[in-house]
Amino acid sequence: MAKIKKKVKRIKIDADKCNGCRSCEIACSAFHATPKYSSINPARSRIRVITHRLKDIWLPVFAGEYAPAECSGRDVYIIDGKEYDECGMCRAACPSRDLFKEPDSGLPLKCDMCEGEEKPLCVTWCLNDVLVFEEREEEVEEEEAAKPGELDLGIESLTNRFGLQKVMDTVARMSRKG
Ligand code: SF4
Ligand code: SF4
Repeated sequence: MAKIKKKVKRIKIDADKCNGCRSCEIACSAFHATPKYSSINPARSRIRVITHRLKDIWLPVFAGEYAPAECSGRDVYIIDGKEYDECGMCRAACPSRDLFKEPDSGLPLKCDMCEGEEKPLCVTWCLNDVLVFEEREEEVEEEEAAKPGELDLGIESLTNRFGLQKVMDTVARMSRKG
């Protein structure tokens, strides 16, 4: 299979420096508002900060892949004697919780590294240097580069919830109106 060059963006998380200020959530939700910067709603952010003051837990978690089914088991992490909430470190938008879902539509949210921007907004606005952005070039198989985007994931999620026929009927109705 042919190989092509792909830019790999990475955000390193130095969780020990996080103080739970939530600037990252505010910046992300504002950047992804429609129109851009027209509103702030952390529930729409693609980064969420798990906080537990009594346990001294502050952990930024980025929205990852959409999962159509919930796991049959649950993970609980204990790090340095601190117990994190069940599924706390999971990045998936899945049926078991509201995290990483657009609050009005229920569509899954996924970090897109602030596509089009030189530097992700959450990195810029984390003044405690918890989030560090890095970029490198890698050679990958052509097939891997063509992974589903946000639109594919959104349609897949709607299809799982309402069935393909209902989604197609709704799109047809909307296009007649438009
Ligand atoms: S990189 Fe951009 S899309 Fe991803 S969490 Fe940060 S602000 Fe949101
Ligand atoms: S902006 Fe930085 S310090 Fe503030 S909650 Fe987000 S990751 Fe933590």
